[in-house]
Amino acid sequence: MMNILRDKKGWIEVICGCMFSGKTEELIRRLRRAKIAKLSVVAFKPQIDDRFHETEVVSHSDTRIESIPVKSARDIEEMSANYQVVGIDEAQFFDSDIVRVVKNLAAHGTRVVISGLDTDYRGIPFEPVPQLICEAEFVTKVMAVCHRCGAPAHRTQRIGGGAERVLVGATDYYEARCRSCFEPPDDEGIPTGQTRLFESGETDTSTSKAE
Ligand code: ADP
Ligand code: MG
Ligand code: ZN
Repeated sequence: MMNILRDKKGWIEVICGCMFSGKTEELIRRLRRAKIAKLSVVAFKPQIDDRFHETEVVSHSDTRIESIPVKSARDIEEMSANYQVVGIDEAQFFDSDIVRVVKNLAAHGTRVVISGLDTDYRGIPFEPVPQLICEAEFVTKVMAVCHRCGAPAHRTQRIGGGAERVLVGATDYYEARCRSCFEPPDDEGIPTGQTRLFESGETDTSTSKAE
């Protein structure tokens, strides 16, 4: 690590984990520190909804940093040339071209910090994040707090909606769950276990946990 830093070569840092695990907070923290170090910094996030153009990356705890919404990895490639540090949030919403782009950036001396979900709501690896993990020099996996029992959580539980892989919306549809509280969806991908114990204080009414 010290050699890379001293020689000012580029590298890739991945921050991964489930929803609410603090990926975006950690991304923002690293980008802020890079700014303190007087490095030139730019942040991108996928424009997953054409209807509004958010110009900030915002965490669930409401820390925020200015960012450019982009439609594709190629947009990042075109806009990153003059920056020393490039931050990218929500990596799972890009296609695998993002892997080529961040490799190129790192090869040309850029420090890339990229965060995203490592698994989807079924617990299945969420490309291209696994590919990015393999390309990265530094990988940080962060955990959330299980909404049901308070233990460290590494799974994203869908608590509503259907079987689509991408269903945007944080607290309406998702909770963080630990291994023992995670209830995988049924074979069709329909979420099970829709009770929100911490809020209702009631007992679990879900019956269809797959064993
Ligand atoms: P991510 O980008 O991984 O979804 P964020 O960085 O946006 O996560 O948000 C992390 C913040 O979310 C925490 O600092 C905390 O304030 C808040 N939060 C809400 N629910 C949870 C939870 N179940 N576990 C951990 N943090 C949570
Ligand atoms: Mg996030
Ligand atoms: Zn739990």
